[in-house]
Amino acid sequence: MDLKRGREPLVIAIDGPAAAGKGTIATRLADHFGLPHLDTGLLYRAIGRIMADRGFDVDNEDLAAVIAENLDPDDLRDPRLRGHEAGELASRVAVHQKVRAALVRFQREFAGRDRGAVLDGRDIGTVICPDATVKIYVTASAEVRARRRTDELLAKGRDVDYARILSEIRSRDARDSGRATAPLKAADDAVRLDTSDLDREAAFAEAVAIVERVAGNSTAERTSFRST
Ligand code: C5P
Repeated sequence: MDLKRGREPLVIAIDGPAAAGKGTIATRLADHFGLPHLDTGLLYRAIGRIMADRGFDVDNEDLAAVIAENLDPDDLRDPRLRGHEAGELASRVAVHQKVRAALVRFQREFAGRDRGAVLDGRDIGTVICPDATVKIYVTASAEVRARRRTDELLAKGRDVDYARILSEIRSRDARDSGRATAPLKAADDAVRLDTSDLDREAAFAEAVAIVERVAGNSTAERTSFRST
């Protein structure tokens, strides 16, 4: 099936916990289907980073909301945003309802582009794009995610400890899943993709198969609605 040439917009929502592989899957799906990609975690990371750089308290909701409202796409280019510390700061500013509200429009406009888009985050299928064509919830056990993150950092020459990374992953999961606004959870109509026993290639192949199956079904449904 050639979804790349389809006329209906293809919106792919990828959600899941930290280090489950959703970023890689989202980037590769976007490339495969020729769609723009937004890593929404970068928005929260940028807000946390800017606040820390200015010496602001990241737990101050009103201040964080002002930074969110004035976020500039150039702020997302800071290479430090990929780091572990920015992830922790992000998870703290992401609990603020006013911050999340300030970011909704930007994300929806991105998703509303003509041909569609791929967005990855924590609340894409549940809050930002509840009508996405395809929703995938990418997950893996906390132990596997901690092992991958540890290996990644060791490969970069960093001195890291598996037990500490595992405990950080667990506390990030608890904060993301336990917050009152837009907690991390799979949308009811999301397809679950557990990557615990899959390598990168197998996980990507499975994601492509899910998109083709679900988007194919939804195209067939729309066609049959039109012809009745
Ligand atoms: O995906 P990433 O690790 O970059 O996200 C960093 C943090 O930003 C997450 O732990 C989560 O707290 C927050 N986030 C969110 N909603 C999103 C994307 C990220 O709350 N859509």
